[in-house]
Amino acid sequence: MSQIDPKTFSPFAPEYREPDRPHGPVNERGEWTWELLEHRNGSTQIYPTLWRDPYAVRASCIPGMVDVLTTKTTPCPFCRKGHIHGIGDGHRVPHCTDRRKKEAVTLDDGTVVYHKDGYIIRTRLTPKNKRTRR
Ligand SMILES: [Zn+2]
Repeated sequence: MSQIDPKTFSPFAPEYREPDRPHGPVNERGEWTWELLEHRNGSTQIYPTLWRDPYAVRASCIPGMVDVLTTKTTPCPFCRKGHIHGIGDGHRVPHCTDRRKKEAVTLDDGTVVYHKDGYIIRTRLTPKNKRTRR
């Protein structure tokens, strides 16, 4: 973490990005809700996809460190809330704090996706809530 320079940091650097693997319908912004991940042993599994707007970093008050100015994801299918995650996209352990969250969600095709298996965090190339200055 100490190697990150806030002046040159990009959330879209290859090491922070995930290869695209949509599963099911993709909306007009090119975003999908589920994706299919192939494991090293050849088996496949479907995970929810949570999208967030681009985030940034700034120099921390601790020398050599950075603070992450992260953004909230789209609602999680298990708890219906957005989540906050740090630098880098990819598979994450769910941050659901709602005790009434669903343990599993069933897709239209009958696939069951489990909360315990986590979800994929992705950062949009363009912010969803782009503000136009007047
Ligand atoms: Zn959640």
